[in-house]
Amino acid sequence: MSSDARIVTAKYSIHTIGIMSEREIFDVLVIGAGPTGLACAIAAQSLGLKVVVVDKGCLTNSLFHYPANMTFFTTPELLEIGDIPFPSPNQKPTRMEALEYYRKVAQHYRLDVRQYENVDRVTGEDGRFEVHTTDSFERRKTHTTRKIIVSTGYYDLPNHLRIPGEDLAKVKHYYDEPHPYFAQDVLVIGGKNSAAIAALELWRHGARVTLVHRGAELHRHIKYWIKPDIENRIKNGEIAAHLSTTVSQIAEDSVTLMTPGGPKVIPNQFVFALTGYHPDFEFLESLGVKLDSDNARVPVCNPETLESNVRGIYMAGVVVAGERTNEVFIENGRFHGAVIAADLAAKLLGANVEQPIAPEHTVAAE
Ligand SMILES: Cc1cc2nc3c(=O)[nH]c(=O)nc-3n(C[C@H](O)[C@H](O)[C@H](O)COP(=O)(O)OP(=O)(O)OC[C@H]3O[C@@H](n4cnc5c(N)ncnc54)[C@H](O)[C@@H]3O)c2cc1C
Repeated sequence: MSSDARIVTAKYSIHTIGIMSEREIFDVLVIGAGPTGLACAIAAQSLGLKVVVVDKGCLTNSLFHYPANMTFFTTPELLEIGDIPFPSPNQKPTRMEALEYYRKVAQHYRLDVRQYENVDRVTGEDGRFEVHTTDSFERRKTHTTRKIIVSTGYYDLPNHLRIPGEDLAKVKHYYDEPHPYFAQDVLVIGGKNSAAIAALELWRHGARVTLVHRGAELHRHIKYWIKPDIENRIKNGEIAAHLSTTVSQIAEDSVTLMTPGGPKVIPNQFVFALTGYHPDFEFLESLGVKLDSDNARVPVCNPETLESNVRGIYMAGVVVAGERTNEVFIENGRFHGAVIAADLAAKLLGANVEQPIAPEHTVAAE
């Protein structure tokens, strides 16, 4: 066999293996490898089920895209999944520690996580769903699964301002890190934790910061250790704040604010519009999942099992709360795995597992 022929054969067999694995039938396919998706996969896999997790980005993609220097509001033990302790020398762990932790947990449980594969659509029905995906090279794949868990989070779609200039490259809906904004006029829009933390960090690293919030005061959910810091910076004039104010226009070198005293144009080089995010409702509806239009577009699902109105499709994590994205977070969403696993055990294995009670929604800061 010529060396060229060997190369062709090798390529062919890799390709064949790829196709064979695509034709595997999974018991459960989890869409989204966030903390909840991983917790669900661990719980289902612990029953002996064949589970795959598919994520459009990397493992814990949302957390990876959080501000580089962020610290969680939650103590480490409340972020734990799969009964694996989260060791941290800090009272509140950092983003970097959380990435390390969830990666180690996924490794420990040998989870089958397919990264960089976007789930585009789902066909079929309970017992035999076809999950159609596209990878980062635009290659299409299909996975066959008996059940689906949707834990797609809310961090991919920002709430837009819908004002002229929002599409300029200098406008960002995600805050990353302060260094590029040194000695620049930066506008931060928002009145919750993310806006307050970004404004403080930017100011501490030499940016000239203006904070704009449509409310008459900063949000009451701002954490008690952040609130006095931002309030004192504003009181001292170190961060300029405009309350009861909206932004009406963003231009290359300026922004126009609608203040209680009338329009005001201020110099500007960068805008962080930190006005929240929302779940991909269109995707949920494409699955046939109904959204409660009278109740914050909460997906219709059985509160005891988290199975949606589409038999065989379960909701998990923050998507369960619809538009109220501050009601489900890692602390309580991580328990959705056990709730769903009990129902899967009954339906796929005929086992009579006591159904754990789904956690109450509580309100957290964003
Ligand atoms: C700055 C910040 C700080 C926070 N601090 C805390 C805290 O201290 N404590 C706490 O409990 N919570 C905190 N939260 C909230 C918490 O991070 C989220 O509620 C949590 O990540 C939700 O988990 P999830 O698994 O439901 O969704 P996510 O973690 O958002 O995971 C969803 C996953 O689905 C993937 N996905 C989406 N659509 C598709 C698709 N079509 N195909 C394939 N994959 C897809 C995404 O890439 C993502 O990886 C914070 C949030 C922010 C923004």
